[in-house]
Amino acid sequence: MINIRQEVPLFSYNTFGIPATASVFVESDDATELADFVRSLPDPSSAFLLGGGSNVLFVSNRCELVIHPVIKGIEVTAETGDDVWIRAGAGEGWDDFVSWCVARNYAGVENLSHIPGTVGACPIQNIGAYGTEVKETVETVETIETATGKTVTFNNQQCQFDYRDSFFKKHRGKYLITAVQFKLSKRFEPNVKYAGLKTELSRNTHVTMENMRQAVISIRSRKLPDSAELGNAGSFFKNPTINTAKSREINELDPQAPLYPVSHGYWKMSAAWLIRHAGWKGMQDGNVGTHKRQPLVIVNYGGATGKEVLDFAQKIIDSVDQKFGIRLDPEVNVV
Ligand code: NAP
Repeated sequence: MINIRQEVPLFSYNTFGIPATASVFVESDDATELADFVRSLPDPSSAFLLGGGSNVLFVSNRCELVIHPVIKGIEVTAETGDDVWIRAGAGEGWDDFVSWCVARNYAGVENLSHIPGTVGACPIQNIGAYGTEVKETVETVETIETATGKTVTFNNQQCQFDYRDSFFKKHRGKYLITAVQFKLSKRFEPNVKYAGLKTELSRNTHVTMENMRQAVISIRSRKLPDSAELGNAGSFFKNPTINTAKSREINELDPQAPLYPVSHGYWKMSAAWLIRHAGWKGMQDGNVGTHKRQPLVIVNYGGATGKEVLDFAQKIIDSVDQKFGIRLDPEVNVV
């Protein structure tokens, strides 16, 4: 059913806990109703499409129109001896979906446990953690094209997935995601290439999918702030890609610096390392700061505005650039 409300505070709709107001807030659990609503709009491009609000920073204190799809449902649509196809509504919580899959021994998303947000938001960012990216399991993404109200389904290739990026991120607001179809495996092969995860699991002689999920949940709970207690949007910046010359400069400063090869002549550099070595770990400026255990996470200590958070992030960008000649790029969607 469609529910249209006016003057809705967005404070509880973003994990940063930033105050903002939606002039019109539209919620529906039905894709057809949402398509009809989108078709009735004089300017659908002005709508802000809200998922779980875990990767957004409201800088403007007002959004004219917010559309919040709350379409539910997880179902197996096909299976073979080895694989299973699962369709999930955009409004399902991402971690509820992961938990559903792990409980049924469907493998492929267990390393993505405990990531906040919704199923509908997962392809936008191509969410990733511990050596797994959601692009490895997404089969199709069902959307409503906001300009026309038409239903458009994207296959994996059309999603143009990249590191924390996709077609939907590049064309923000143009497609309202209503459901995602995944292809998971009935055969579990643990992916423990990340050192932290390997250590966490070292006491297990035989690693199960449930062990893997619990290990990821334990690490994340230890290292990351709970947004119910301290407003944040997870990693604020992406890990930058640098060339070999720059990687050598970093290596001279610290031979242990975390650098991972991405393609010939290019390396992924830890943004957390850069922020820490620019002196920002645990720093606080007014209501905003970097988290004391994970400097990649910017936190709202209470009462921060989006502008304060953005100004703080800009100081970090400038400082890292000045010290290392590397520009950090926000992962968070600034609205
Ligand atoms: P970490 O283990 O301290 O490592 C720092 C960075 O190095 C990570 O961001 C990771 O990149 C990269 N890395 C580590 N081991 C690697 C390997 N074997 N091969 C390639 N790259 C490697 O990282 P952390 O901060 O504790 O985070 C652990 C995982 O959780 C990471 O995958 C991170 O992305 C994910 N995470 C995501 C969020 C979020 O809000 N999106 C928040 C916290 C953590 P990648 O980030 O590319 O994996």
